[in-house]
Amino acid sequence: MTEGVDRLTTGLIHHPYTAPAEFDALPPGVFKASSVFFPSVAALRERRWDDKSGYTYGLHGTPTTFTLEARLATLEGANHVLLAPSGLSAITLVDMALLSAGDEVLLPDNVYGPSRSFATHELKQWGIACRLYDPMEPASLFAALTPQTKLVWLEAPGSVTLEFPDLRALVREARAQAPQAVVALDNTWGAGIAFNAFDLGDGLAVDVTVHALTKYPSGGADVLMGSVACRDDALYRRLAWCHSRLGLGVGANDVEALLRGLPSLALRYAAQDAAGRRIAAWCQRRAEFVRVLHPALPDSPGHAHWAELCSAAAGLVTVEFDPQFSAAQVDAFVDALRLFRIGWSWGGPVSLAVPYQSKAMRALATPYRGTLVRLCIGLEAVEDLVGDLGQALAVVQGTIS
Ligand SMILES: *Cc1c(COP(=O)(O)O)cnc(C)c1O
Repeated sequence: MTEGVDRLTTGLIHHPYTAPAEFDALPPGVFKASSVFFPSVAALRERRWDDKSGYTYGLHGTPTTFTLEARLATLEGANHVLLAPSGLSAITLVDMALLSAGDEVLLPDNVYGPSRSFATHELKQWGIACRLYDPMEPASLFAALTPQTKLVWLEAPGSVTLEFPDLRALVREARAQAPQAVVALDNTWGAGIAFNAFDLGDGLAVDVTVHALTKYPSGGADVLMGSVACRDDALYRRLAWCHSRLGLGVGANDVEALLRGLPSLALRYAAQDAAGRRIAAWCQRRAEFVRVLHPALPDSPGHAHWAELCSAAAGLVTVEFDPQFSAAQVDAFVDALRLFRIGWSWGGPVSLAVPYQSKAMRALATPYRGTLVRLCIGLEAVEDLVGDLGQALAVVQGTIS
């Protein structure tokens, strides 16, 4: 390069223009940076990464990430929020921050599957024991708690099978039997809308919540992100130091997508809730299904606990096929769906379906004998979705001679 062009580049990098500061509009700016500049060496030495009144390094926060953290804290009724690259990494952050060799972690048998995998692989390898309890039997949690229990995971409702536990009773057992244990809730289903995990009533609360922001808060099926929220300052510091040492960061464009999704979160949740209930009611009238699992249905497991705590439900419906339908026939049903797409996750605009074999998912006994299909209701018209389910059932009925 000629000297002139070199100089031009230097001039473009160290450009004197600064845009006027007062830009008043709804979207917060999308700030991207690895390096954050300090006016002097003294200022660099003085600034602490865990003091959120300023900035040290892109990984430790930008105006964009701080803004999302503050809004999520409001959503969740928490004082502190940390962002992680996925819902799963938010879960594993809590595990790694709070557990050491010799400790025990308790998981509900219907926990989000990859959370259990992390416990039975990495945590086990690091000398941390994992015990499973039946979340629908508080006595089962009671029996599993020991002086070594340092972390109790809750999930409401359970993954795929959607049983709604008595969260208050579980928290009460944990507080009474293992006061040394942190109680953490995977609050992805509730999304900060269905109930307040930091105020369960009767003075009961969880210590930590985790969200897959990937689901409802994003709402776009285009972002992977997770959050960890808590109220207690000391607990936040334990989580934040581990978060920092692990080097967990999120991209500003993804944060921007989340900030864009939050204002419509409650509206989308309500719409998907209403659609989910109508589809659950329709499924209940179909002879192909022996059980429809949805916490708002009176005969769904844990309905009374849901009704006591929640005013809303996420748009998830799981149907259990009559065992006369083989797993292959249920697969054919899912393959025949046209609007429902086949895929993981939920909370986006498109409806999704996935078949599950309940026996393969649970360590403890399950009442489910038929193949399960989890339906995640998107934003399509309910009439269209019901029409799609009906035509796919007709296809499968046609295969029965
Ligand atoms: C999806 C999900 C997660 C994981 O979120 P990712 O962002 O996909 O890693 C964790 N818990 C629950 C209950 C989920 O549904």
